[in-house]
Amino acid sequence: MKLDVNVLRYLSKDDFRVLTAVEMGMRNHEIVPCELIDRIARLKHGGTYKVLKNLLKHKLVHHDSSKYDGFRLTYLGYDFLAIKTLVNRGIFNGVGRQIGVGKESDIFEVVKEDGTVLAMKLHRLGRVSFRAVKSKRDYLRHRSSYNWLYLSRLAALKEFAFMKALEEHGFPVPQAVDCNRHCVIMSLVPGYPLVQVRELQNPDVVFETIIAAVIRLAEHGLIHCDFNEFNIMIDDDEKVTIIDFPQMVSVSHPNAQMYFDRDVECIYKFFAKRYNMSFEEYENDSDGLEVEIDEVGRPQFSEINKNSGFLDKELAASGFTRKDQDELEKLIEGELEKQSDSDDEGTADEEDEEDINNTNVKQLESLDLSKEDVNHQAGDDKHDDNHQVGDEP
Ligand code: ADP
Ligand code: MG
Repeated sequence: MKLDVNVLRYLSKDDFRVLTAVEMGMRNHEIVPCELIDRIARLKHGGTYKVLKNLLKHKLVHHDSSKYDGFRLTYLGYDFLAIKTLVNRGIFNGVGRQIGVGKESDIFEVVKEDGTVLAMKLHRLGRVSFRAVKSKRDYLRHRSSYNWLYLSRLAALKEFAFMKALEEHGFPVPQAVDCNRHCVIMSLVPGYPLVQVRELQNPDVVFETIIAAVIRLAEHGLIHCDFNEFNIMIDDDEKVTIIDFPQMVSVSHPNAQMYFDRDVECIYKFFAKRYNMSFEEYENDSDGLEVEIDEVGRPQFSEINKNSGFLDKELAASGFTRKDQDELEKLIEGELEKQSDSDDEGTADEEDEEDINNTNVKQLESLDLSKEDVNHQAGDDKHDDNHQVGDEP
């Protein structure tokens, strides 16, 4: 059963209060006991259980009574909380079509009151491995659902902070508008990912712009780590915009050289294959590039004058600290290990399957929240922003 997109409009203040209570309870519980939800929600006229049943019907929470009677958020529930908070902040008031499905995200158009269209990225960290991890149900099941929410939130915060800092330093990135939970709002980039662009008028100019950007990033202390034809957007004027930042690392990372070389190699390979470019011509006298180039024309990491820590201040100002970065890296590595442990194990059951599918487009697409509706469903803001899954208890 798929949820009607309009449900968000009809969810009441109490519905959101209880949904937020489940989220808060998840800071300390994988499955939040019903009594705790009731205590956190403190509904004036009671009826938490009835509200929970309604949320369950709309797949915003998942019911679990294996150890005790309790609930946890689904991705869809988490989506709704983030969307509602951003709508209440006046960032946008309608959700449009889905414009991208990344490995680890869903991207939608969202519309502001004045008609401006923005892009909304909902992070789904670990989606690819979700099934595999969940198959270790006995001891990982609930824990992993909590972890993925937490990881997705950290990834969104990181992406927002990096985008903002890069924008301030004149990099060609989308404009970072706002961020809540696992959701980042940014300007809509015109054009298409490089991989979808059949023809370029000036492939050499585009190539040089892209390589110059990788080098400049390293000069600013950063490596993209997923720099390829999927994460580079090209508009009609062949202007380049770089997207997708949650995996960026510092040039002081132990594997920095390898990540840098890999990013560079991706671009070289792509242009060699798609545009038949050969790179001898870029040796030494290449125009835009001011660094040493090896015998096949690659920029050398060791030759770049790197200023690591240059963006640290900006990043911290956006709320993403070194500690967050370390933690995110550790968590991702830990989860990836678990993933490879369980890759060859059985598949998830129907319920898990539903949980994954329920985060699906149809429920969010064409969500129109008129002013009236927004006011109608505006909840208790105190409950909204201050407490999120994954906050320190
Ligand atoms: P993932 O981390 O899942 O790869 P991306 O940030 O790369 O997510 O986004 C996936 C796709 O969504 C992109 O390839 C692009 O087509 C589209 N997209 C992402 N951000 C924007 C944006 N700001 N404007 C327009 N399209 C975007
Ligand atoms: Mg991507």
